[in-house]
Amino acid sequence: MKAQDGMYIDGAWRPAAGPDLIDVVNPVDERIIARVPAGGADDIDAAVRAARAALPSWAATPPAERAARLTALRDLLVARKDEIARTVTAELGSPLAFSEAVHAALPIAVAGTYAELAATYSFEEKVGNSVVHHEPIGVVGAITPWNFPLHQVVAKVAPALAAGCTVVLKPAEDTPLTAQLFAEAVHEAGVPAGVFNLVTGLGPVAGQALAEHPGVDLVSFTGSTAVGRSIAATAGAAVKKVALELGGKSANVILPSADLAKAVAVGVADVMSNSGQKCSALTRMLVHRDQYDEAVALATAAAAKYGERIGPVVNAKQRARVRGYIEQGLAEGARLVAGGPEAPRDTGYFVSPTVFADVTPDMTIAQEEIFGPVLSILRYEDEADALLIANGTVYGLAGAVWAGDEAEAVAFARRMDTGQVDINGGRFNPLAPFGGYKQSGVGRELGAHGLAEYLQTKSLQF
Ligand code: NAD
Repeated sequence: MKAQDGMYIDGAWRPAAGPDLIDVVNPVDERIIARVPAGGADDIDAAVRAARAALPSWAATPPAERAARLTALRDLLVARKDEIARTVTAELGSPLAFSEAVHAALPIAVAGTYAELAATYSFEEKVGNSVVHHEPIGVVGAITPWNFPLHQVVAKVAPALAAGCTVVLKPAEDTPLTAQLFAEAVHEAGVPAGVFNLVTGLGPVAGQALAEHPGVDLVSFTGSTAVGRSIAATAGAAVKKVALELGGKSANVILPSADLAKAVAVGVADVMSNSGQKCSALTRMLVHRDQYDEAVALATAAAAKYGERIGPVVNAKQRARVRGYIEQGLAEGARLVAGGPEAPRDTGYFVSPTVFADVTPDMTIAQEEIFGPVLSILRYEDEADALLIANGTVYGLAGAVWAGDEAEAVAFARRMDTGQVDINGGRFNPLAPFGGYKQSGVGRELGAHGLAEYLQTKSLQF
């Protein structure tokens, strides 16, 4: 695969300060497809300095001009959508059709929303005898994961640029090629030098240097709760803002009045898509005891259909982690009805689509984020019990409720401690705020709420 051999800093591709490289591996066949530089503290420092130098002029650029650059960026992503899909497939392993429909199309849609919001957002408001200005926070350090390589980047960079912030991006080490492609598009879109900078590198080296850099005003991180916690602690000590989008263990609550077959089919499809590598995956299916056996049979049949269709997980470490959870589910007494810990193929980081029945709320597989194609089906006695189970984890990122009557589903959803809930299979909305309650994170991404994360207010009294 084509790869840049430098860092994108201050409007140009520059050699990295050190000689280290990262191997980019195709998870389907475990072959090295490219090498990119592994940046260190010196590269991060150069990128942050460039972003600081570019800040005053970009912050003062009229929103309409920022919107024009974002529109150009969106159009360039559209023009390169096939290349985006191929690149994501090569470094993440997702099937090409999914890469086209989601990994390329979703960030294009999100970039479009921010092109429009930059032009229409009210950066100034009148409150009594005050005029409140919504000003950019400053230099953003963005640290992104591999599970949606371009979407996670666009969900941070587009609102930051719309707000008038400048950015240093440190993408996941598993998926740097998509990030390089994005940097090329930013350059072609005419975004001024220094406004956006890319440093590829390892999390504990380049990522940590970025999170700790005194020239960064806001750290926006998506990834594991463990790393998020340490980034928040570092930022807290420096009285620096953070936005954290962390893990999830979301509940898919099927109330007795629901269309059971549809709810189960949609629920299984959700957990298997992207090989389960979604922070919002509905990994806990909650079914009333009277419908439990039927739901398990339906889920077992549905999971069998995914056998050959899902891609691998991203790397050997994730495969080992996911298989470890499956083994733990077995050890704690859950009943395996589909899949299992055995590798379905000799090469590639594949995990069998797996379904567990008779999962109880205290089991590890019902509490911890697995990040693989593994569904747990839990039994509830009544609505109060279902709510207790749904809310009974440290997470609160997403959820779903199914009921015969929409009002019944809404009433249940309103009692869930979670940031978003799909009602009877409601579609993803790229303008709706996305983010978590409890340990699923701090702050919101997407839409106007996502833009507000990159702004701070200044009140002038008259
Ligand atoms: P991770 O949190 O280690 O990596 C996410 C990003 O943080 C990457 O860019 C990484 O380089 C960077 N990073 C790692 N250590 C860092 C540090 N000390 N300082 C600064 N940046 C650092 O996640 P992972 O190891 O790739 O995946 C582990 C688990 O995290 C998964 O199994 C899953 O449970 C969870 N995860 C969640 C999401 C999500 O969307 N919320 C995405 C990916 C992974």
